[in-house]
Amino acid sequence: MGQRLEESHPLSLKDNCLIDRLIEIEDAGVACVKIEGRMKRPEYTAIVTGIYSKVIKEHRRPTDEELLKLEAAFSRQGFTQGYFDGTRKDMFGVRPEKPDRDTEKLYSAARRSYTDSEARRVPITIYSVVEKNKPVTAVAFDGEGNHVTVFGATPEKAVRVAATPEALNEQLYKTGGTPYYCRDVQSKVDPELYLSAASVNELRRQLLTALSDKRAEPPARRRLPLPEMPTGRGQIADPVTVYQVRTLDQLSPELAAMKPEYIYVPLTELAVDMTPVQPFIENGTKVCAVMPRVITDDQEHQIITMLEKVFQNGVGEVLAGNIGHVRLARRLGMRVRADFGMNAFNSYTVDMIRRMGCLSATASFELRLAQVRDMAKSIDTELIVYGRLPLMVSDQCVISHSTGGKCSCQTPAQLSDRKGSVFPIVREFDHRNVIYNAHKLFLADKPEDMYSAGLWGIRLLFSTENARECVEVAKCYKGQGDYRPNVLTRGLYYRGVD
Ligand SMILES: [Zn+2]
Repeated sequence: MGQRLEESHPLSLKDNCLIDRLIEIEDAGVACVKIEGRMKRPEYTAIVTGIYSKVIKEHRRPTDEELLKLEAAFSRQGFTQGYFDGTRKDMFGVRPEKPDRDTEKLYSAARRSYTDSEARRVPITIYSVVEKNKPVTAVAFDGEGNHVTVFGATPEKAVRVAATPEALNEQLYKTGGTPYYCRDVQSKVDPELYLSAASVNELRRQLLTALSDKRAEPPARRRLPLPEMPTGRGQIADPVTVYQVRTLDQLSPELAAMKPEYIYVPLTELAVDMTPVQPFIENGTKVCAVMPRVITDDQEHQIITMLEKVFQNGVGEVLAGNIGHVRLARRLGMRVRADFGMNAFNSYTVDMIRRMGCLSATASFELRLAQVRDMAKSIDTELIVYGRLPLMVSDQCVISHSTGGKCSCQTPAQLSDRKGSVFPIVREFDHRNVIYNAHKLFLADKPEDMYSAGLWGIRLLFSTENARECVEVAKCYKGQGDYRPNVLTRGLYYRGVD
């Protein structure tokens, strides 16, 4: 693709209904409207929040000029109301590879607006006391529970001009160049004392610096005892093998002959046809239905119908990646295995999954293998040890967008990044798309690491492989054949996350 696919269009000010709504909710007493510029350059955020907040505060519609700026700041490709009214068609914009000159101009103006000056937003109150033979005392309050006291020079006896509260107040008011503005300044000054302007300036500087330091202090933390570490089961030296497929086409009699203990097959596929899993069942393999990653409320019924169907056909287990989906499966009396989406990142999460009554947990693929090994596994714990890891689920059918609106999403598509890596995109339930990693996770050559992690199961996750490749990979993990992916990754199993 010559163009890069952008995230969804932002909400539009163009349509009158949105601005009416914003005014409406503000009138209804909503004090805060969140204007979001996710993953955007600061310049973009400055332009968008600047215009939006002005328009909302002034209870008016944006001017033509403001609209032009908004469009330029985004990608000149328009906006959507989709998030509000639910019509989520056409949520993609395409940004040209090179930003054009006008936009760059607009951006640099926006950049100047926030780099050249300090916006004074924090109201403060200052009190000062000037007494004979004592250092000048000044206190600042920020109205958020912070206050600081500083001491300045000791006043001298006035020779000509004596300090007055008015003159002192006026000098303390000057907080330009700082984040503060004075709501009130009050000074008590004994008669016939002299303070140099420089010493007052220094006092104010110290005071505001002290206040900034105070405000930057982290709040006191509560300290509570750590919950007791769950106890793990004994180490398992011989984990079961799980093959997870994405389509029925990947299931072949040859793969069945590998006799994995489990196969995980999408619920949506099993509901269509159970025939391809028969050879597996005959070989003693148990079948577990994989629930879609995303199920909206209006799709619950459809999912329940599918669950009922596969349950009647003898599939008693589901793999759920979301706490909400556990309930759906339970209602029908099915048993649940917890997928990676449940984020089993430590012993406590694994134990929580056990307490939820799940049959097994999937250790997070963001853990290092050593962490997986050291985790207390209070229930059966499995790990994905092969395959393209899913990066993202898109609510939009990216594939049909890339083919001009015609949905051909049965065939996988791909996205490529600047480095030339190719990320497969495949269809999931209801035209959602899953974007997979460009590289395949591969650990078959590290059996000692896999088998010493105390796992109940190791899972091979097949995504874009055809039936023959699935068999080759499966054999390789059994120590047969010499399959190796073209580009492989060890994932985070040795690197970990910070
Ligand atoms: Zn589609």
